[in-house]
Amino acid sequence: MTSTKSKDIVIIGAGVIGTSIAYHLSRRTDCNIIILERNTPGSGASEHSFAWVNAFGKDPRDYHTLNRRSLDMWYRLEQQLDGDIGIHLGGEMRWECSKERAVQLQLRIHQLQTWGYPCRLISRNEMLELEPDLCPRDVTAASYSEADIHIETDKFIDTCLIKTRENGSEIITETNVTGFTIRNENIKTVITTNTEYPCDIVILACGVETTQLALKVGVNIPQQRSPGIVIKTTPCSKVLQNVAVIHAPPMNNELQHLHLRQLVDGTLRIGQGTQEGINRDDSQHHADTLLANAKEYIPKIGNARAIPTPIGYRPMPLDGYPIIGFTKAIQNMYIALMHSGVTLAPLVGEMVTLEIVDDVDVDWFKPYRLERFV
Ligand SMILES: Cc1cc2nc3c(=O)[nH]c(=O)nc-3n(C[C@H](O)[C@H](O)[C@H](O)COP(=O)(O)OP(=O)(O)OC[C@H]3O[C@@H](n4cnc5c(N)ncnc54)[C@H](O)[C@@H]3O)c2cc1C
Repeated sequence: MTSTKSKDIVIIGAGVIGTSIAYHLSRRTDCNIIILERNTPGSGASEHSFAWVNAFGKDPRDYHTLNRRSLDMWYRLEQQLDGDIGIHLGGEMRWECSKERAVQLQLRIHQLQTWGYPCRLISRNEMLELEPDLCPRDVTAASYSEADIHIETDKFIDTCLIKTRENGSEIITETNVTGFTIRNENIKTVITTNTEYPCDIVILACGVETTQLALKVGVNIPQQRSPGIVIKTTPCSKVLQNVAVIHAPPMNNELQHLHLRQLVDGTLRIGQGTQEGINRDDSQHHADTLLANAKEYIPKIGNARAIPTPIGYRPMPLDGYPIIGFTKAIQNMYIALMHSGVTLAPLVGEMVTLEIVDDVDVDWFKPYRLERFV
């Protein structure tokens, strides 16, 4: 890429990734930024996310480190934005009730500690000191990952967009991007249902739709379908006093692990299985079952009711790892497609800005280029 002085940059998609990139770009002068969003900001995967910011289950080491760096960057981003981004500190606590799972947890904690991740095994007493309202039943092993947080993505996106606008960028919602015009292996204009936008650089931050849009200019972005469900509840009194996120073991062999967090408005978000687990059951019955299980562990949830939520689709590259960077075939098209986008948003926003404005190849992104699929 050549110098980007006074470049027109179009970002497609206003989820956590598109807005973080937009904000970081907007802090640099000499870029004119337009964000195009087909619905309302944050209405894609970001709305359906469990939004646990962590590097706990991230392998291999390089990918763990990428997530860890980004986790640490959330605090600086919060200071810069100087507004409510719905950040919940307090760490993550989990426990197991079977012997096999206890061994796995102990091994994982040991490995994470050797990688310098601030986590440790804790006793049942320590669990109850952290969360006095918990009824954990049998505990074969428990751990606490002190650095983990969760984010209210709608608040983050709103605050990010306010600052991005203040910095002179334009956010155009309810505008569907339908195609591009191409000249000399570069996108010249971005075509929407309403009009065309001339551009020097286009960033595809449109989540699961990235593959379909990139195909319009002949670029293949391999993606898998990854449906997941995180249910909501009506508000209840504060059930987690200290930790931000809990992971609880299944109550019986038919159930999966449970994860739970509480928002400032008192509502809960509850999911099951792993962070990447496939789930298509958006029924009231499923939502009721998840909440009933959560109540067994936290009776204080009381009369809160379960609200089923539609299936959320994770932006999930074929091998599960991010796809970040310019494409070779269309030289001014930049891809930012990833799962764990809530964890990675601060790092991706800042590093994509370095790549685009300062014309460098960030080493940290080396394993995550599109070319690995060729
Ligand atoms: C069930 C579930 C649980 C998750 N749990 C976690 C977790 O605990 N921790 C974590 O870090 N991550 C988690 N994730 C992943 C994380 O939510 C995503 O990686 C992240 O939200 C991706 O953000 P994004 O901005 O790339 O995509 P999105 O939020 O999907 O935003 C893309 C935007 O592009 C817009 N768009 C699409 N096509 C067009 C078009 N043609 N024209 C204009 N606009 C368009 C969409 O409307 C959308 O608003 C989870 C995801 C799901 C679904």
